[in-house]
Amino acid sequence: MVAQITPSAQTQLEFLGNLQRILNAGSFVATYKYALIRVLADLSIERTPTADGRLELPLEDIAERFIEIYWRQAAPFRPRRTLVQATGNQASLLTRLMAIRERVGKLADARRMPRWRSLVRGTKTLLLEQPLWRLQRVGNELLECFYSNRLLNGAIILKPGVAACFKAQFPVVQALVQLAWLRMVQQLPINQELIGQGGDVAEFLFGAERGALARLTGGLLEIQTGRCFYCGRGIPAGGHVDHFVPWVRYPRDLGHNFVLAHDTCNSRKADLLAGVPYLERWLERNATRRIELDRIFSEARMLHDVETSRHVAAWSYEQVERSGGLVWLGGERFEHLGRGWRSPFGMPS
Ligand SMILES: [Zn+2]
Repeated sequence: MVAQITPSAQTQLEFLGNLQRILNAGSFVATYKYALIRVLADLSIERTPTADGRLELPLEDIAERFIEIYWRQAAPFRPRRTLVQATGNQASLLTRLMAIRERVGKLADARRMPRWRSLVRGTKTLLLEQPLWRLQRVGNELLECFYSNRLLNGAIILKPGVAACFKAQFPVVQALVQLAWLRMVQQLPINQELIGQGGDVAEFLFGAERGALARLTGGLLEIQTGRCFYCGRGIPAGGHVDHFVPWVRYPRDLGHNFVLAHDTCNSRKADLLAGVPYLERWLERNATRRIELDRIFSEARMLHDVETSRHVAAWSYEQVERSGGLVWLGGERFEHLGRGWRSPFGMPS
């Protein structure tokens, strides 16, 4: 067992910054890059890097996982119609998988077909021709932040610390990738008629669903002694389970991100981050009420990890500071976020 070092918060923020640059590059012609990032993240979780933090990922393994991801998505979205995942013709891998799916329904059966080997070979070629060497190209710059653009014994090598960052930031990576992926699929004109007004595309593509937040109300109300997290006044009944870091910034439900608030406070905050005094209150709550919170989230079957939520928050405040964005100070008050959010995290401000 190799001892694994958690990358510093700074390294993780840089990693997320690079990921965002890649996702924002915007010139994707197919969804392959999203699937590739997902595969890198999944394999980083499942495999142990070498002592110096590198992780070797054989192209063969990446190809098999790539097929697995698209297998589900090659199913018909409406009878005999599959969602298109490229700006021109349908993504070629999906076309191939649709044909195989018509003959065998299950991926496990597809793996036993004689054609499987040729499918994997074809997917390796596809990876080499499309996403693998293009992923890290942003404008005319080659970032090479995750791996060097060359094969070594049929494998790419994740650079030292990259697998650890994928691992530490897995929820964030997954959320960012799914959101970008979903946007691309929804914005393709050819899909719009197919999607219609149905809001089930995310569920179809990723099986994403928002947890039953209502199950958190009682526990949070108890922790907050019946008061709104933001204004501190009593919540007569119900209240609103609010994403402290808004859903649009981090589309995944993790327990510690929830606070209970008035409907009015929640809607005034809208999609903004809360100001530094609220951030301090939230960090303190997560530190001092750790055991009770863990119990509440476990009982509600809500995924939770205080460190992940903390990283997500630090990251999102940094993003807002960098972009000169506003934070909400309660009521109708807002301000531009300065460096003040850093000190509650123990970072120099
Ligand atoms: Zn309130």
